[in-house]
Amino acid sequence: MAKNTKPGNSNSRRKFIRDISIGAGGLILAPTLSGLSSTRFIRDRKKLGVALVGLGGYATYELAPALLETKNCYLAGIVTGTPAKEKIWADKYNIPQKNIYNYQNFDTIADNKDIDIIYVVLPVFMHKEYTIRAAKAGKHVISEKPMAISVNDCTEMIEACKAAKRKLSIGYRLHFEPFNMEIMRLGQNKVYGKVKKINSSNGFVYGGDPNAWRLKKALAGGGPLMDMGVYVIQGARYVTGEEPLFVKARQEKTNPTLFKEVEETVYWDMEFPGGTIANCKTSYNENANFIHAEAERGWFELSEAFRYGGMVGATSAGKMNFNPDVNQQALQMDDFADCIVNNKQTRVPGEMGRLDMKVVEAIYRSLDTGQKEKV
Ligand code: NAD
Repeated sequence: MAKNTKPGNSNSRRKFIRDISIGAGGLILAPTLSGLSSTRFIRDRKKLGVALVGLGGYATYELAPALLETKNCYLAGIVTGTPAKEKIWADKYNIPQKNIYNYQNFDTIADNKDIDIIYVVLPVFMHKEYTIRAAKAGKHVISEKPMAISVNDCTEMIEACKAAKRKLSIGYRLHFEPFNMEIMRLGQNKVYGKVKKINSSNGFVYGGDPNAWRLKKALAGGGPLMDMGVYVIQGARYVTGEEPLFVKARQEKTNPTLFKEVEETVYWDMEFPGGTIANCKTSYNENANFIHAEAERGWFELSEAFRYGGMVGATSAGKMNFNPDVNQQALQMDDFADCIVNNKQTRVPGEMGRLDMKVVEAIYRSLDTGQKEKV
């Protein structure tokens, strides 16, 4: 995919000075965020070493730079199938040759004490294999979203990490982002009463390689629903704090040549047990990035919701005031390292990724049957 076709990849974001301090309204979040900036154990122990597997767009432009800002972990190694990338990364990030792997010798990473966490940043169909291999090598794992191409694959990943007694988390960076944390609080604590309706969309106009893995069903598991729609599912789940019971979906396709194997635009409704209805949309043919919630006594929304930065939020009581440009990826990885060192449960575990895939599978079933489907 062309680097800047995806909304989150805006260069403007990187112009912001990243600062994990939060704005005036941040007091509410202080208990949760304070743990992230704790350096207590760093004085006692080394930073954990992270190895990135797959050095594509997200690893190159977001995760590796974020690992220069992390406090609890650092970029210790890489796994790549492209030998030309080895020297570039080694020079840029000061990675010793012994910490550079390819897909063939990957399993020998088991013997490398520098590597504590394997971060799988590969096309979706490869998440399962590399998560399982990483767990068998005795490493903790972060798998990128969407977790895998099926619920069954998610289960295998969870089981493999459990069997190896390793932690598994999903790259759900927005759980560490103050505006998104605020809508979790407003919705789940019913600050404006019960949330009755959610309207959310996430998409962009696909301008990348027509042969890219993202457009191949077997490699990506689907189209925008897998890539961008998971954020919409996540948003509705974390605003309500509930799991949807039913979904009903339909799709539109204006370019069947480009979107031969995967969907182009999907609309779906989700019904939650407390009565909330979420009207959702995702597309590879429309720029959108918002979530709006109507509650009994007011409303709240993020009009810029799912990007890497530049969040904008408001409620019926006024503007939200947080730092819109925290380094989400640095916070996410630091929190995972903290969970490992202090043996805490990650707030974004494999089970959360699997719940999203259950919804995704129900949406695909609904597209096939035209009926409302149980999740
Ligand atoms: P990308 O296409 O830029 O990179 C994929 C990498 O995998 C490349 O380095 C490629 O060489 C490598 N690769 C290895 N085997 C491959 C194969 N058989 N086919 C294709 N590539 C192969 O993709 P990306 O945008 O970096 O996405 C990687 C993962 O990160 C995906 O799961 C994606 O959903 C996720 N992602 C997450 C976010 C987020 O905000 N959390 C953002 C972007 C991407």
